[in-house]
Amino acid sequence: MDQSHPHHPHHPADQPDPSSPQPGDLTYDVVVVGGGAAGLSAAVALGRARRTVLVVDAGQQRNLPAAGVRNVLTRDGLSPAELVRLGREEVLRYGGTVLGASVESVAPSVTASGTATGEGFDLVADDGTRVRARRLLLATGLADELPDVPGLRERWGTDVLHCPYCHGWEVRDQVIGVLASGPMAVHQALLFRQWSQHITLFLDGRAAPTAEEAEQLAARGVAVVPGAVAGLEVHDDALAAVLLADGARHAVQALVVGPRFSARTELARMLGVATAEHPLGLGTSVTTDETGLTSVPGVWAAGNVSDLTAQVAVAAARGLMVGAAINADLMAAELRAAVDSYRSR
Ligand SMILES: Cc1cc2nc3c(=O)[nH]c(=O)nc-3n(C[C@H](O)[C@H](O)[C@H](O)COP(=O)(O)OP(=O)(O)OC[C@H]3O[C@@H](n4cnc5c(N)ncnc54)[C@H](O)[C@@H]3O)c2cc1C
Repeated sequence: MDQSHPHHPHHPADQPDPSSPQPGDLTYDVVVVGGGAAGLSAAVALGRARRTVLVVDAGQQRNLPAAGVRNVLTRDGLSPAELVRLGREEVLRYGGTVLGASVESVAPSVTASGTATGEGFDLVADDGTRVRARRLLLATGLADELPDVPGLRERWGTDVLHCPYCHGWEVRDQVIGVLASGPMAVHQALLFRQWSQHITLFLDGRAAPTAEEAEQLAARGVAVVPGAVAGLEVHDDALAAVLLADGARHAVQALVVGPRFSARTELARMLGVATAEHPLGLGTSVTTDETGLTSVPGVWAAGNVSDLTAQVAVAAARGLMVGAAINADLMAAELRAAVDSYRSR
């Protein structure tokens, strides 16, 4: 993992800072936890705003299993790893720092005597790095909880899919199965019908569609198979069939699933940041206002950790917006301090 040297972090000795860091710790204007589209985009905006920024990234971007990124204008088909590499390069170009590590703990900053400073956060990473952040951006993304079908995880991101806008074009006109593994299964089957006429909904023993849904599925020519799914058949590194517990075999070229979107909220929870369940039951995420501010002052969130359905371009756009909001918040605090000091002259 790469670690560039900080260009201009605030050392306790050379820059007065209200959060009084521990000796040896570096203080950054902003620490961004998570270096996917959201975190990197925020870090570029903050670097360009002449803020000292550290991105700590564990390198588990959600779309890494996919061959290429789709629906990102001018970057069509770029490998997800290459997108991250280029994004990191842009962060470095504007004086930011990228640390390949996982943040394990975060807490409000305290003085050497243990009293709260009232501003800032202390972070500890799994490589032993300790840093202090005046403001914190959580861009930790989410983990896709996949249905527990043997062989399915290995195909995730290639021919086991969830997102028509990410993969639909690539599987157009193919024989596509939809595994009922989430609350949106019928919707997914009807949606993927836009990309192919050959859609089968595998209920995997779940409740049958309502009468209204059954009519919609029939009207669009979507087959419904009720039985329990036992596994997948793969030939020449390509999905070949869905196998049922009763021995039936249904040939498919792609399988759509509905993972539970499990936002990485561990750090948010350590700080008491509010989270909420998605209204459609897709998963839990960090709650923010429209600027990306969480329920805890000084802590922002962007990307999938606070918006479960954000795609790459949306996550990057939110990162930019939240980066600007953090800069505005820092600017307001600095302005208050400047006016106070001016008045006391
Ligand atoms: C298979 C698949 C294919 C996809 N294809 C597309 C596509 O073609 N087009 C598209 O627009 N979208 C696609 N997406 C969606 C896309 O992956 C997300 O929109 C995007 O990754 C969200 O960006 P993010 O920055 O919020 O999170 P991520 O990109 O997931 O980045 C979060 C980062 O935070 C890190 N992290 C988490 N916790 C910590 C911690 N404690 N310390 C340090 N680092 C931490 C993670 O390791 C990770 O690197 C796809 C998703 C999947 C699952």
